[in-house]
Amino acid sequence: MIAFQYSRATDVADAIRQVSASPTARFIAGGTNLVDLMKDDVERPSQLIDITRLPLKSVAETGDGGLRIDALVPNTDLAYHPLVESRYPLLASSILSGASQQLRNMATVGGNLMQRTRCAYFYDVETPCNKREPGSGCAALNGLNRGHAILGASNACVATHPSDMCVALAALDAKVNVAGNAGERSIALVDFHRLPGTTPQRDTNLGPAELITSIEIPASRFTQNYSYLKIRDRLSYAFALVAAAAALELDGGRIKTARLALGGVAHKPWRDTAVEASMQGQMANEATFTHAADQLLRDARGLAHNTFKIDLARRAIVRTLTQAANGTPQSQSDKRVL
Ligand code: SF4
Repeated sequence: MIAFQYSRATDVADAIRQVSASPTARFIAGGTNLVDLMKDDVERPSQLIDITRLPLKSVAETGDGGLRIDALVPNTDLAYHPLVESRYPLLASSILSGASQQLRNMATVGGNLMQRTRCAYFYDVETPCNKREPGSGCAALNGLNRGHAILGASNACVATHPSDMCVALAALDAKVNVAGNAGERSIALVDFHRLPGTTPQRDTNLGPAELITSIEIPASRFTQNYSYLKIRDRLSYAFALVAAAAALELDGGRIKTARLALGGVAHKPWRDTAVEASMQGQMANEATFTHAADQLLRDARGLAHNTFKIDLARRAIVRTLTQAANGTPQSQSDKRVL
């Protein structure tokens, strides 16, 4: 671990001012990913700007019936917040499927969005990795790639985004509010993270001196028919091989609105609104869900060790949509898939 400067930000403007003055500085809040990256020499910031004292810790209703969640709200507090439990149970479930209780206590909403891939080669500075060192190559392409991407990958990088919370936020049409030198702006969650293309070193579309201040979710519509299903190698404290967030509005047995996002399969939460639109008006049954899964995975490509994820994703989509349609969401305390 390298030597670095430490400072505290007194307010949002001060945080932006400090990070603007030092291009290799990083914000730190919970530190649950960044400190690991520093210990492994993957991240070598010249300065850590501590933002934990900024007034970004509330959860509040918005004027249009939605929810604004400040960037420094801990994951645990968000998962158990009464408004989230009652109006956005899909979001609560996704958070509780991730990490461990201790990590969720420390990790923040903004940090969850900013966490980096868990590709093992990214953390091993002895191996080539275009994300860590652009132009060096991708050790995973011909290495151990069992957990890697089946959608949206490139020859430069086949990593996946590790978040569960972001998958639910993508399905719920969340937006990310950020502040920077040019003022404030909002980015749709589905546009916040990037596909790797030829620049896998860039995980997000956040500008160099921008700070996430909050996320916003539109008014709740999916309190009954939702499910977050996470398939992984062990039942806790593991990243998803495949995860699916599903939410439905039903009229009798017919689908009025469908939302579907996948995790563990791409460099960003994967959502295909054309597939969702194709379910509209269809019966909420296995045939509809299987067709949707086939459509969503039509461009999926496997590597040497992860082709099994294509069929796993297909079955996970059908299972998750079925759980949502039946109003029997996946439990995150008893993780058996029923
Ligand atoms: Fe690096 Fe991406 Fe290749 Fe992993 S998949 S080694 S993160 S370039």
